[in-house]
Amino acid sequence: MTDVSPVPDPVRDRWREPMRRALDEAVRARETGDVPVGAVVLGPDGAVLGLGHNTREATGDPTAHAEIVAIRAAAAGLHDEWRLHGCTLVVTLAPCTMCAGAIVLSRLGRLVYGARDAKAGAAGSLWDVVRDRRLNHRPEVIAGVLPDECGSLLTDFFRGSPDAG
Ligand code: ZN
Repeated sequence: MTDVSPVPDPVRDRWREPMRRALDEAVRARETGDVPVGAVVLGPDGAVLGLGHNTREATGDPTAHAEIVAIRAAAAGLHDEWRLHGCTLVVTLAPCTMCAGAIVLSRLGRLVYGARDAKAGAAGSLWDVVRDRRLNHRPEVIAGVLPDECGSLLTDFFRGSPDAG
């Protein structure tokens, strides 16, 4: 047996590669001074349907979170089919309440995220909107895929931000 990687994680390992795509998107947000969060929507076959990064500063749109941008791109690519049945959203940071709501409303089959967000997370930390039994749709949730890479991108951004001090 080779021992190149840590303990195999059959639940999370298959999402590491898509998470790296989301991380590439997150890095692009920094170009416009936006908080580095990135997302990708995958079809049932694993094909990339939509990419997005946080563009609030770039566009002046308070709803332009990575998840919303990626969900809109995916739906537009499906010839305006708004239901993302069987699709997976992979995002570097746990979604906020707005994005968790959008995930439920778009009928995404699965949510995969990297870093937890103890202050604003709505997928198991502060709230758990995506698994609220009162809602009519609940995606599968897989948390903690490449959490250190996803989290340090944010930590470094806020440490280096002129607004931080
Ligand atoms: Zn959000």
